Formats: sequence, C-alpha cells, structure tokens
Amino acid sequence: MPSKPQSLMWFRADLRVADNPALHLAMQNGPVLAVFCATEKQWQQHDISPAKKALLVAQVRDLADSLAQLNVPLLVLDCPLFADIPDALAALVKQHDIQQLYYNHEYEVNEMGLSRQVTKRMKSLGVAVRSEHDQVLTVPGSIRTGSGEFYKVFTAFKKALYKAAPDILRPYYAAPDAQQKVDMNSDLQALDNLDVDNSWLERWPAGEQLAQQQLQRFVHEAIRDYKQTRDFPAQDNTSRLSAYQAVGALSTMQCLRAALAENNGELDSGNEGIVTWINELIWRDFYRHLLVAYPDLCKHKAFKSDTDRLPWKHDEDKFQRWCEGNTGYPIVDAAMRQMNQTGWMHNRLRMIVAMFLTKHLFIDWRWGERYFMQKLVDGDLASNNGGWQWSASTGCDAVPYFRIFNPVTQSERFDPKGDFIRNYVPEIAKFDAKKIHMPSADLAKRFGYPAPMVDHASAVAQTKAWFKELNASQ
Ligand code: FAD
Repeated sequence: MPSKPQSLMWFRADLRVADNPALHLAMQNGPVLAVFCATEKQWQQHDISPAKKALLVAQVRDLADSLAQLNVPLLVLDCPLFADIPDALAALVKQHDIQQLYYNHEYEVNEMGLSRQVTKRMKSLGVAVRSEHDQVLTVPGSIRTGSGEFYKVFTAFKKALYKAAPDILRPYYAAPDAQQKVDMNSDLQALDNLDVDNSWLERWPAGEQLAQQQLQRFVHEAIRDYKQTRDFPAQDNTSRLSAYQAVGALSTMQCLRAALAENNGELDSGNEGIVTWINELIWRDFYRHLLVAYPDLCKHKAFKSDTDRLPWKHDEDKFQRWCEGNTGYPIVDAAMRQMNQTGWMHNRLRMIVAMFLTKHLFIDWRWGERYFMQKLVDGDLASNNGGWQWSASTGCDAVPYFRIFNPVTQSERFDPKGDFIRNYVPEIAKFDAKKIHMPSADLAKRFGYPAPMVDHASAVAQTKAWFKELNASQ
C-alpha cells in the first residue's frame, strides 16, 4: 500500500541525491515528498547566465530521475520570485498534511533571508524545520581565530582547518536507500514554461552520475599533474567541475573525499598535485565563510570600503571592448571570447582579465563581476565576488595593489606557444609564438585585429598612483 509523505525536502542549489545531508536525514524520518521552486524572475535579477540556467533546469530533470529510483516524487513549483516561495510551500504542506520541512543552507544574503521567511512560515503552521550544511567542507563560523573572529587571511584559515581536521569537516552522507512508494506522482510541468536555451547542454550536459564520472576521471588521470599544469589554459588540465558544484550536482565534500582517497587520506601532505587541488577546494570554502561573516559582500560592497573612494571609471565603450574581447591584448581577448563562447574561463585567465579591467582600464570591479555572472556556467556569488575583489585589491586577503599582472608576460609564460590564443583569436592565428602575444599595431591592423586600447606601463603607473594616494590619505 503506498503511504502518505510526512516530510518535505526543499531542493535548492543541492540538486543531487548522494551526499545530500538534508535529503538523507529527511528519508530517515518517514516518507518524503520533494519540491523545487523554479524562480525564473529571481534568476534574472541574480544575473544567472543562459548556460547556468540550462544546466540548472536539466539538472532538476536528472534529479527527478534519481529521486524516482528512491520512490521520492518531485514537484516543481512555478514561483517567479523568492517572495512567492513561502506561500507556495505553505500551501503544499497544508495540502499534504506534511509534518517536517528539510533543506540545505544557502549563504547569499537573499537566500538566507528566504530561509528565515520559510522557517517562520512553517513554524506558524506547526511544521518542524531542519536545515543542514551541504555546500561547504566546514560549517561557516566553525573556524575562528583565537579571539573568536572570522579569518581574513586564507593561509591562516587553511592552517586552522588542517589543524582541526578531520573533526571540523562536515559529515559525508551516502545516497539514501529507496523508501516505500508514496501515493503521489512527480510533476515537472513548470519546467516546460521556462525560457531555456538548451543548446548549452551540448557543452555542459547535466547529470549527477556524469559529474561523478568527471570527478573520478580527473582524480585518476590528471590530479597528480595539477600543480604543474593547472596554470596553462591550452592544456585544459583543471577539473572543470565548478559548473556541477554551482548547481549542486556535485558537492565540494565529494570532491575532497575523492582527492583524499587518492592521497592516502592526507589533506596537507603526500602528492603535490592533490594537495594543490585540495587547496583550491578550501578557497571555495573560505569565500563562503566570508559571505556569512560579511553579508554586505552580497550587496557588492568593497571589503575594504575605503577603496570605494578610488576614482573607478564607468566608461561604457571601454567596458564593451573588454566584454567582447577586443582590447588588443591577445590573451585578454582570447579569454573573454572563451567565456562568451563556452560559458567558462580558465582560472589563470580570470585573474588576468579581472586585473586588466580593474588595473589597466580602472573600470569598477563590480561591472566585471556582474558580466562574469551573466556569462559563466559556474557563476557563484561567493567565489566570483572573492575572485574579483582579490584581483581589484579591494577584498579580504586580496593581491597587493602594486602587484599588477602584465598581460603580455603572463601570456608568454602561460601560453608560451600561443595555442590558446590561436583557438579564440583567429585574426592573428597565423602569427608565430613570438609575435602572437603582442603583435605590432601595424601588423595587427593588417589582419583586422585592434591595436592595444591602453599602454601597459602608463596605465599601471596611474593605477599605482591612485592606490598610493588613497593609502596616504588614511
Ligand atoms: P579546478 O582548478 O579543478 O579547481 C577545483 C575546484 O576548486 C573548482 O571547481 C572550484 O570549486 C574550486 N576553486 C578553484 N579555484 C578557486 C578559486 N580561485 N576560488 C574559489 N574556488 C576555487 N569559481 C566559481 O566556481 N564561480 C565563479 O563565479 C568564479 N568566478 C571567479 C572570478 C574571478 C575573477 C576569479 C579570479 C576566479 C573565479 N572563480 C570562480 C574561481 C575559479 O576560477 C574557478 O572555480 C575555476 O576556474 C573553476 O574551474 P575548475 O572546476 O576546472 O577548477
């Protein structure tokens, strides 16, 4: 006899069944019904890119299939804005006489506000609420300095994590066993009404199993060379798992476990490639801890608020040239075109283009931050804000203002043969490995490629002068 659901599992950015703490606990506590709210207007307001939207929607369908194996029906509710969710969930729990609601935390300020509203609403209906942490390795706030503060320096944060591990790591949860059949069917119809460009799925196919396979492939075939190869965009030797993490098809904890299994359980010693990769996972955690400690980061406030006094430019034309990849600096242009065409950009290039926008064009880092969110398949407020504020020297543990990448020497160092540039800047693809990093203005013009829009030395000198002046005025 099919049973009635007792608990509601509210899926958010945690679209997987394995290592899903809230789902796991919900299923230990009687029959579960699952729900996902499709908040199309809110996604638009949050600048979610077409690539990420397509992946997210396809991942909900994949989740429905995985849940069906567990006999958990999934309902998709059409809730254009976050503000519509409390009422929609309230109606659902009343309709099915649900006793408990389970969800995993999200750390952005709007998402945290939504969690509070939903919790309040549920409690007013006598529904118990239980929330868990799934996105992180360590619960935000659990790692603090001796005086109880949040860490502001990554290395110190990481050392504290190493020292307190494994106790400080959140538990890992295997996929739950199937429950008894419940008396309801899945309903994903609301997904059909969304405006989605599914062509992105050819490049970024959804799937929890697919994400697992990609993780295993990376860990078995590439992770050991990661330290040597990770900075070379033409080699494409990073995991490319960030997109799956962004929609929750894969957890950072699953990544860590796979890496540890390959490194005899060692976090901070053993194979260098593995330790370096784990270091990057910890950066992701660090930025989430910062969001919780400093919620104003979600409102795109500079961590070092005095840097708002710098004369950041708001030049639409120059910004447009950067967005389109027409700056006349081949590595910058190749990187921007990679993101525009594929929805993803290599980490070394993200740093190069972010520094170029903020330190050569002196354009407000918030413009770049927003453009990245509008284009990236892995757009993630915490990591994106962290990366931008690091590059602009406005953030917590940011790069010192005077250490400014020279895009030409970066290009010579990390794309020595120019292979990456050739892939994305066909105008100059025939140039040899010497000329391709910065062709002369005449040569470039003959091939229809723009002259550099700014002179490196003078732009950098001006930027340093502005930062110096700011520091002197304090
Ligand atoms: P790998 O090199 O395989 O690293 C493994 C994982 O570690 C990644 O999947 C990611 O979860 C994490 N990671 C790696 N580098 C970083 C980092 N610097 N900071 C935080 N986490 C990291 N990452 C996003 O996921 N979303 C973003 O919107 C985003 N925006 C960025 C903007 C700027 C300006 C910069 C400099 C970095 C940004 N990053 C962002 C971080 C990083 O570039 C990407 O996580 C990484 O390139 C993803 O590729 P991968 O999965 O192959 O990473």
